[in-house]
Amino acid sequence: MQALEKVLPVILAWSANREQEILESGEPLTPAQQQLAAESGVLNIERVRLLIVDRVSLPQDPELLQMARSVGLPLNNTAGRALGYGVEIVAGSCHEDRLLRHEFRHVHQFEANGGLAVFLKIYLRSIVEYGYADCSWEQDARRAEYGVNNEHHLRPVK
Ligand SMILES: [Zn+2]
Repeated sequence: MQALEKVLPVILAWSANREQEILESGEPLTPAQQQLAAESGVLNIERVRLLIVDRVSLPQDPELLQMARSVGLPLNNTAGRALGYGVEIVAGSCHEDRLLRHEFRHVHQFEANGGLAVFLKIYLRSIVEYGYADCSWEQDARRAEYGVNNEHHLRPVK
């Protein structure tokens, strides 16, 4: 694996650029989508843009792709991705509500950690250390798929 210090700025530059593209070409959330974002704990819901794509974007640069692979980022068969306030999901994804809650949870994590640079740093370190599936932010996002992260959903089971 390449040193994270070398990989991080390159992935951050690509991610910030892709976020900007999504913010420019994506749509504001519908009321139903805003509800899902609220359930996932997103604060500035009006800033989120959603772009429906045929395939989730990948870096064109082979070296950057290799870097992303080397730190364990999942690059294929990804149904969605959140980069800052820019969320992209593949058209016709099944379980779209779950997918959106998952991606919106990453938006919440990014908000809660002071921006894309800090978020990516912690996220990538965690993936390198624990693997994609077991990193705590992916676990947190998977829990959010069912709307259980928001306090309002943590009602006692009768
Ligand atoms: Zn995720």
